[in-house]
Amino acid sequence: MQEKVIIVRYCEIHLKGKNRGYFEQVFMNNLEKALAGIRHEIRRPSGRYIVENFDAERTEEIVEKLGKVFGTHTLSVGTKVAADIEAIFAEILRIAPSSGTFKVETNRADKHFPLNSVELNAEIGGRLLEKNPELKVDVRAPACVLHIDIRENGTAFVFRDVIKGAGGMPVGTAGKGMLLLSGGIDSPVAGYMIAKRGMRLECVHFHSYPYTNMQAREKVEDLARILAEYTGGLTLHVVSVTHIQEEIHKKCPEEMMVTLLRRFMMRIAERLSLQTGAQCIVTGESLGQVASQTIEGMTSSGDVVKTMPILRPLVGFDKTEIIAKAREIGTYETSVLPYEDCCTVFLPKHPLIKPKLDKVAAAERALDVDGLVEEAFAGLETLTF
Ligand code: ATP
Ligand code: MG
Repeated sequence: MQEKVIIVRYCEIHLKGKNRGYFEQVFMNNLEKALAGIRHEIRRPSGRYIVENFDAERTEEIVEKLGKVFGTHTLSVGTKVAADIEAIFAEILRIAPSSGTFKVETNRADKHFPLNSVELNAEIGGRLLEKNPELKVDVRAPACVLHIDIRENGTAFVFRDVIKGAGGMPVGTAGKGMLLLSGGIDSPVAGYMIAKRGMRLECVHFHSYPYTNMQAREKVEDLARILAEYTGGLTLHVVSVTHIQEEIHKKCPEEMMVTLLRRFMMRIAERLSLQTGAQCIVTGESLGQVASQTIEGMTSSGDVVKTMPILRPLVGFDKTEIIAKAREIGTYETSVLPYEDCCTVFLPKHPLIKPKLDKVAAAERALDVDGLVEEAFAGLETLTF
């Protein structure tokens, strides 16, 4: 018997006391969803998840998918062998480095195994040194740790590397949010951060076709697709704000364009949230980053949302920190493609840096706000990834 396995360890979930069972079940479902269409089996012996019966040639792909599931703390690719010293040692010998420092670390769920952990570490380590004098034991800071996990059913897992997963909480354990997804760098990162805390996401994107082109639209779909890999699927609502922008342009002071448009986005997002069961609005705003993201700007745009909070997970992040995160999660290359979303159309030369709420609200009276929102909804498209 010798078979490849992937060991998945979760994080934080154990902190949740009486909800633990629920969190573990959601996590399990999310792991299953990530591997949909790939042959595998997942079992859950104490405190970890073991993926078995998969095509060994797809190991890398499976590890990548599982590593993106929020809640995954670490993963290891290992081999399942019979729980006897000869079989374990043969596998250790196969995966051991050819030189440098190492230690053996045993975890023994089966207390009937003839040797205890310390004895097995010494036995296997000793045999390895005998076979390869280039190796040296270092129990404090070894270059390589060789793990042995003795299970209850007469099997053992042997593995070497521990790969870092995405961390966080399983998506679906913290409600649902409506992410305002632009084609920029920030909003995909904001979505990632919130999903990482366990929140399921729907997205809404606003465009100004034909002032913006189809490539801008495809770019946002690509971003949604990347996010969906972390969230186990995603719904994207696409709404045209072309007529809204034209109306603002025609009837309101030029420098208020961004703030007024933001208010429409917020209204539409709130209404969509109420329709789809989302409990908050999520944006990629970061304090002071641009004119519309001053505290006055956020007050003026946020004012129209009456029934739910607006979460801004990046509010205290520097642009450089956001960019680093975007690269890490794989959205950066898509975000920097040079296709404009709606906000650059009709962009004023000098936007108001500190829009006053009362002035903005007064300027807005020139518009048929309800009619424009209604019209935007009539053209709504919904895509799933
Ligand atoms: P991003 O990189 O996310 O586009 P940004 O720094 O360009 O952010 P703004 O353009 O001021 O900032 O937008 C602030 C936030 O408003 C965005 O992070 C996003 O959540 C939302 N937003 C802006 N434009 C759109 C759009 N066309 N569709 C959906 N949401 C948008
Ligand atoms: Mg933007």
